[in-house]
Amino acid sequence: MARLPSARQIARMTPQEIDETATRLEAQVAELSSEHGRTEQIFGQTTGVAAAWAASDFQMQLLQGSPREQARKIDEVRACIGELDAEHDRRGGWTRVFLTAAEEPALAHASLTCPAAAGREHVRLPEWSGRPVAEIAEAAGVRACPTCYPGVPYHWRARATRILTPAERARWQATGVRPVASTASATPAFADVQGRPVLTLDGQVLRTVDAAVDEYAGAAAQLRWYRENGRSVAGLEVQQALCTYLLEAIAVHRGTEIEVQEHRLERHVEARLRRDWG
Ligand SMILES: [Zn+2]
Repeated sequence: MARLPSARQIARMTPQEIDETATRLEAQVAELSSEHGRTEQIFGQTTGVAAAWAASDFQMQLLQGSPREQARKIDEVRACIGELDAEHDRRGGWTRVFLTAAEEPALAHASLTCPAAAGREHVRLPEWSGRPVAEIAEAAGVRACPTCYPGVPYHWRARATRILTPAERARWQATGVRPVASTASATPAFADVQGRPVLTLDGQVLRTVDAAVDEYAGAAAQLRWYRENGRSVAGLEVQQALCTYLLEAIAVHRGTEIEVQEHRLERHVEARLRRDWG
């Protein structure tokens, strides 16, 4: 195992080097932890056996020494990761990307302090360190965390992501086939025109056509109220895009034309207009 960088070395590292080192060390922690789990299990059994055989205190210490040594090493590596992160903060920070990919949907976060990222299994993607936020958010597409990247235009969120886990990247390089969307799971029962999960503005997945109708009615009612009351709809392009996107998904699902669907959903929009804006 390579030696851990000293405080002086950390102070001289570039942001890229700091994040690459932290990434490497986190992988090391994961490896050491699983090794530690295995030896603890083995030694747990062994010490049980040894105790039964009335091993001497010295023999017991030898048997238990190995897992204890591993635990100490893990703490040491974790502390070093903490120092690298502290150096990031000390310098006023730079953009970073953390991908939580153990559970669906995988999300790209700007920080581990994000409530949707804290305490979750994650991978650091140092190749995105220091890049402009807008570039990261656009590349993240469907994977942009709504909390970390709140200003992402709706049509960006509908895009396939370019923020990939190391495993996805390796598979892409090996097969030449780029991973399409955030989910490795099969196409959901209700999907958008490209067969991907239907999302709301804040990144929630709409799993049923009824949920999409409800979301559409809410957004369409809001647009209508603004228009009918002579308010500017500037800044509501997102709602406009959302309406079209949902309408398309609903129309495809029900096998009708968009116009037909828009007409059929009219009473839902009217009802929402009275309820939310009346
Ligand atoms: Zn986040």
